[in-house]
Amino acid sequence: MFRSSIYKTPDQLRLMIEPGLATAASLAAARRKIVAGASTLEIDAVAEAAIIARGGASNFKLVPGYNHTICASVNDEVVHGIPSTRVLEPGDIVSIDSGAILGGWNGDSAITVVIPGGDPAETLRRQNLSRITEGSLWAGIARLARARHLNEVGDAIQTFVENEGGAIGENYGILTEYIGHGIGQNMHEEPPVFNYRVRQKGPEVKPGLVVAIEPMVVMHNPETYVKDDEWTVATTDGGAASHWEHTVAVHARGIWVMTAEDGGAEGLAPFGVTPTPVE
Ligand code: MG
Ligand code: MG
Repeated sequence: MFRSSIYKTPDQLRLMIEPGLATAASLAAARRKIVAGASTLEIDAVAEAAIIARGGASNFKLVPGYNHTICASVNDEVVHGIPSTRVLEPGDIVSIDSGAILGGWNGDSAITVVIPGGDPAETLRRQNLSRITEGSLWAGIARLARARHLNEVGDAIQTFVENEGGAIGENYGILTEYIGHGIGQNMHEEPPVFNYRVRQKGPEVKPGLVVAIEPMVVMHNPETYVKDDEWTVATTDGGAASHWEHTVAVHARGIWVMTAEDGGAEGLAPFGVTPTPVE
């Protein structure tokens, strides 16, 4: 059903370590710049500098028609927001998606940050949305560590979002029009990685599988539209959105989050999963 080439060799997995770390570095730099008064173009510049400092290049710039290192999606925007002179304000919820190519191999990762200082009640709701979206990503990665088939990941993500959201009285939506993906010499490869329950089992989880898992979770209705810039995906009801993503490798001795400095140790600890470095 799936080409055997969705499974990388050990040598190929090793080649994905550096682009993963360059991607992580770009988001670490971006995170420091996500403050009130900064523009999303300034965040783009520090993210690109961090990738170049590690010997890589932006892979988003290789996407035809796209000229930036990051996507910056603010408030009602979920993904694919274009960096601009827009200045961030207290209370904004900001999702930054970044990727590096290095030695011909790719990394892809995203974070969400809520800028302090907005309306306290709304800021707390946005912080909860981001915290639970991030938690659902780690729940999905933890499931990957134990899964027989890839689509168990989406079940873990959806279950986490429903349970944790429900516990605080929120009825979040998970986008279904946009999903995660395999990653390697191309940023987007087979197989699809669903962030929600599907009927199909998906491919077998075994050494060599490398996937970008990326839940996109919104405050209410997951219906979206594309803004007039022809890139930015925003919620139809104007509700706030969060997007978290990591590139994760399955290898002979376990899993390793390629786009986390610690391989995912901290994020996976609550799930009882310990990542093992790719050797
Ligand atoms: Mg991404
Ligand atoms: Mg991706």
